[in-house]
Amino acid sequence: MKTEIVVNPDDQALNRAAGIIKNGGLVAFPTETVYGLGASALDERAAAKIYLAKGRPSDNPLIIHLSAPEEAEKYAFVDKTFEKLAEMFLPGALTVVLPKKEIIPASVTGGLDTVAVRVPSNKIAHRLIELSGVPIAAPSANISGRPSCTSASHVIADMDGRIDMIIDGGDCDIGLESTIIMSEGDDRVRILRPGQITAEMLSDGGFEVSFDKAVTEKPEDGEKPLAPGMKYRHYAPRARVILVRASVCDFISFAKENTGGGNAFVCYDEYVCAGIPDMFTIGPEKDRTTQAHKLFSLLRKFDDMSNIKTIYIPLPEKDDIGLAIYNRLIKASGYTVTDII
Ligand code: AMP
Ligand code: MG
Repeated sequence: MKTEIVVNPDDQALNRAAGIIKNGGLVAFPTETVYGLGASALDERAAAKIYLAKGRPSDNPLIIHLSAPEEAEKYAFVDKTFEKLAEMFLPGALTVVLPKKEIIPASVTGGLDTVAVRVPSNKIAHRLIELSGVPIAAPSANISGRPSCTSASHVIADMDGRIDMIIDGGDCDIGLESTIIMSEGDDRVRILRPGQITAEMLSDGGFEVSFDKAVTEKPEDGEKPLAPGMKYRHYAPRARVILVRASVCDFISFAKENTGGGNAFVCYDEYVCAGIPDMFTIGPEKDRTTQAHKLFSLLRKFDDMSNIKTIYIPLPEKDDIGLAIYNRLIKASGYTVTDII
């Protein structure tokens, strides 16, 4: 299949993209979180094409993207908690799981009786959904298991020749996927996947917040996390990722002692060392928004370096957006954490 690539689309190009969606095709598009791989959420066959293009397991449901929170009641049973969340956080990087209405095919929700609903704030995404006139089912646009795509070049690397169109709208602002929560009624919410809308922000908004175990821990064999996708290995570059629990000082000494031999080290901007050629920075130590923004493109960069066999990364703190970084890295590492003694 020839994939059309459109850079910074005008309305004419977005109308063409909307036409592809309406006719059951696949379009990758930018959002404020990561690039999505979109198809009509009302078209069972189109949704099936997403699973095929990504190599995604069929029990891993898709998030549906809407142009406004008010649209949600067409596809899901909304409650007061959703309405309050929408007022505070939407459009934005928050996905809410709600009981689904019949109009959403079972293939979109992996057979679940719930549907995950999101209203992106990115202007291109918003306009594409509006012009399509249907909700757009869109997982992250990467091949299943790989780091998500935060720029069009990542999407081209994974999806060129597999889908109808790729819209290049530049780098994604946030760079990590949306926070997924389940409404448990009466202003209680459970975080199934952490993201840029943090537990602290939800608490400050007056919500009682709890966490699905899979946010920080490896699901046991046969155990089903509330977000089915959390049980799969994900976000992984080709090289092995090992998280290191150590002070920055100890981490740098460890890097100095182990440089060479296919090892790479991720560190904060302030600590970059001239003597360690395979050291890569992820942003200032205290600026976790920048770290989140750079994470996936850094993990993807390692895939272009065939000499790198093992990537050592400091274990992130688990508060604020650090929890989302922790969650992605712990999965990328296959839950491999080591101490330096
Ligand atoms: P992504 O491919 O990055 O967009 O992943 C979407 C995530 O949303 C996966 O972890 C899915 O398991 C999760 N998800 C989608 N729909 C639902 C749902 N109805 N209930 C719980 N999790 C969901
Ligand atoms: Mg994904």
